[in-house]
Amino acid sequence: MGFGRLDARGIDGKLDFRMKRRDFLCHSTFGAVGLGALARARSMGHATITFGLGTPRQQPKNIIFVVSDGMSAGTLQLAELYASVKYGQTTCWADLYRQNRVSRALMETYSANSWVTDSAAASSAWGGGVRVKNGSLNVGPNGEQYAPILQKFQQREFAVGCVTSVPITHATPAGFCINHADRGEQAQIAEMYLPLRFDCMLGGGIEYFSAESRSDKQDLLGTFKQAGYHVATTKLNLAEITADNQPVLGCFHKAGIPYALDHAQDEALLASVPSLADMAKFAIERLARNPRGFVLQIEGGKVDWAAHANDTTALIYDQLAVDAALKVAIEFAESSQETLVIVTTDHGNANPGLLGTGSANKKFESLVNVRHTNTWVMDGLKSNWGIDEIRQRVQFAQGLELTADEAKQLHEHIAALSESERGEARKLPFAKMANIQKQRTGIGWAGDDHSADYVELAMFGPGSEQLPQFVKNTDLHQFMLEVTGVPS
Ligand SMILES: [Zn+2]
Repeated sequence: MGFGRLDARGIDGKLDFRMKRRDFLCHSTFGAVGLGALARARSMGHATITFGLGTPRQQPKNIIFVVSDGMSAGTLQLAELYASVKYGQTTCWADLYRQNRVSRALMETYSANSWVTDSAAASSAWGGGVRVKNGSLNVGPNGEQYAPILQKFQQREFAVGCVTSVPITHATPAGFCINHADRGEQAQIAEMYLPLRFDCMLGGGIEYFSAESRSDKQDLLGTFKQAGYHVATTKLNLAEITADNQPVLGCFHKAGIPYALDHAQDEALLASVPSLADMAKFAIERLARNPRGFVLQIEGGKVDWAAHANDTTALIYDQLAVDAALKVAIEFAESSQETLVIVTTDHGNANPGLLGTGSANKKFESLVNVRHTNTWVMDGLKSNWGIDEIRQRVQFAQGLELTADEAKQLHEHIAALSESERGEARKLPFAKMANIQKQRTGIGWAGDDHSADYVELAMFGPGSEQLPQFVKNTDLHQFMLEVTGVPS
């Protein structure tokens, strides 16, 4: 084990997002180890298995599957550039490439009915090994049910779990866990988790478990407790969970956990809500107590949400939060020497990029002093606010002076919305904001939805040497089973 049991201090938010140089990025760890570590990584002392007359293959005991949901290639690059400009560091993900420490491939992400997948079909491709239509979780067009991969691993006595920055019932974790024809039925998906008794399920989405917010008024949190689960709704609850074999359910926020940038600026949120890296660390430690091994999915789901909203700083900081969780996974894998870390995304989204050869550097550097995301700006807008209040809020959050005309555009858009429409992200003037910001930051977006692009896929640790250079999303299902010696 590379780390000891967490205590309250160990998951103190003050240590997480403000970790900046030491923990947030892994340049100091990986930059220093160089070729010696590469040689050690290539000669780890894990078990080997041989299929037929082929070369010996390395068999991992554990798999950690890290997903930055909706990560276009530009997202990875923008996070890397931001880390460089703001912290003088590199990201863990990019540094794994620089140091030649991973096997790397392109992945095709199509679903059964579209070249542009949604997260449910994408996770089902990995989770069930079959392409289904967008919106479905491991259910075929005639009701066929494809066994989800964490159920397969659980049957072979692996410890299993999911960690996410969006609801734990959301499409990407659910695609590894259950069968449902409609990803939108998250209240039902919450109920479906109960009998599974997966070892560690952590994320947001408390509204699908609490009696106050469920339409059927069921107290699912209480039901999980009665069934023997540890149930955590705060960071302190999580720290106090005893080291036994009971399953853990953690729901720390309504909808997703806050964007990493906004989380870092709010003392109350820091005290109560764990970061993605906090949750990843807790889950890895807990699952690693199982002698047979474990399989854990870690999802940065709000990278996708930020891309839909064209919210640049939300996107960059949440991608860096995924990177911090990846670093936790890699450090554990380095220590255990029997863990395969898979890091990828399920599809591109909105394809952001730094555009224009003119003054791109200077424009991008204007982002280093941001305080809050565009989502935070929108969430705080009041219906009676005039142009001046809007300008002040944007200036405070983004350090950006709107012209009178720009502020007028936003004001008119917001003033035309009803109270309920102001609660719908897609009704808010995110695209207008992004267009305004593009003039200052140089960052443009191809749209506001998923793309069909090939995506990054990398593997670290035993078994990674078996990764082909080009895979379909469905190939990863069989890959994870074969590499661990689990029958499909
Ligand atoms: Zn997705």
